[in-house]
Amino acid sequence: MGENTSGAGHSGGLVLVLNSGSSSVKFALLAPASGERVLAGTAEKVGTPETELRIRRYPDHVSTEQLPEDNYEAVISRILDCLPRPGSGAAGTGQAPLIGAGHRVVHGGERFTASVLVDDEVIAAIRSSSHLAPLHNPANLAGIEAVRAARPDLPQVAVFDTAFHQTMPPGAFRYAVPEEWYTRYGVRRYGFHGTSYRFVSERSAVLLGRPLTELRLVIAHLGNGCSLAAVRDGVSVDTTMGLTPLEGLVMGTRSGDVDPGVFGYLAERAGLGIDELSEALYTASGLQALSGVSNDMRTVEAAAAEGNERARLAVMVFVHRLAKAIAGMVVSLGRLDALVFTAGIGENSTVIRRHVLARLGFLGLTEDAEANARHGRDTRGRISLDGPVVAMVVPTDEELMIARDTARLADVGARLP
Ligand code: ADP
Repeated sequence: MGENTSGAGHSGGLVLVLNSGSSSVKFALLAPASGERVLAGTAEKVGTPETELRIRRYPDHVSTEQLPEDNYEAVISRILDCLPRPGSGAAGTGQAPLIGAGHRVVHGGERFTASVLVDDEVIAAIRSSSHLAPLHNPANLAGIEAVRAARPDLPQVAVFDTAFHQTMPPGAFRYAVPEEWYTRYGVRRYGFHGTSYRFVSERSAVLLGRPLTELRLVIAHLGNGCSLAAVRDGVSVDTTMGLTPLEGLVMGTRSGDVDPGVFGYLAERAGLGIDELSEALYTASGLQALSGVSNDMRTVEAAAAEGNERARLAVMVFVHRLAKAIAGMVVSLGRLDALVFTAGIGENSTVIRRHVLARLGFLGLTEDAEANARHGRDTRGRISLDGPVVAMVVPTDEELMIARDTARLADVGARLP
């Protein structure tokens, strides 16, 4: 996430970005033009009597408070109370109006191909996609409705994780399963991390000094959740996540691809039910299960460096599957101009990037060890030696992308009759 600090540069107004999860609300108040942060924070344990709100006022004031009420409305109304009020005179922030609220919404189904201004019809459509993300979409909606209740006139924008991938062709998004599973139940590949891919592809083009419309990129978003996108001429043509964020790469606690036959096998052999199997694949698999040490790549890397065999295996499986999937994405592009690493692991792990590049030499990629060790900071993101394909590190900023969409759509909305 971007770490710009507060200062001047938000004269065009501020946007509140909200990510309402199943038990937490993350938020940031920032200037969409400059990306500067004024406030950021998290409410944890929402829905319990121990709801705690932690707020950072940039540059460096942090406070924590317990909230007496436990619902989204109470949390969001408290967050809105903390925002600087127009004319309050607080240094550098007092005059900047709040121009909108932007919400991260996990699943937009096939209906949403871009960000939208929220109205009754959009709320109903998000609700009708909830079966596709039963833990996330209802929480995202609770955030939207809580802002509506507190500030009915504030423009709100929904930004979907899935929207960017709606350009995938059927050859990439269909599963080879009975037709009715698709037509009746929506079983197809949707993909996630779309907001990050949009931000990173635009930024990569700027750093490469080439038009995005002429670039073929594989972007590796490697955080707690991990996925790849194949971005051709600025649009997504393939991705590794599918109907749910479980498909594809090995992740912190998620398995990524497994043989779908595992379900029937374990149901029979171990008597496990659907809930137990899902829970295990989402929360007790991935790096955590392989290493037996942690779901956190930093800890796994450190244990591997000290000789822990299971941690080494976890790194090996992670890298093998990642490199193989990157090569697969190149098939969807026809040509590779740049491989871009982003998110927690992608931006910070010299070791994982080194292993991956070593496996992909046949694509024309060679590590520049010094630039890789510095995460491409002095080389416009580049971490590869001169060659036909560039490898680079490009920090993502999903909050800024949501803020920009919100400012743009709120402005359009304001100009409608
Ligand atoms: P989220 O998907 O929740 O936004 P992040 O993008 O912050 O998560 O990524 C979290 C992951 O990044 C964790 O696995 C963490 O260990 C990893 N990470 C962060 N810093 C480093 C580092 N210096 N080296 C290796 N992995 C790192």
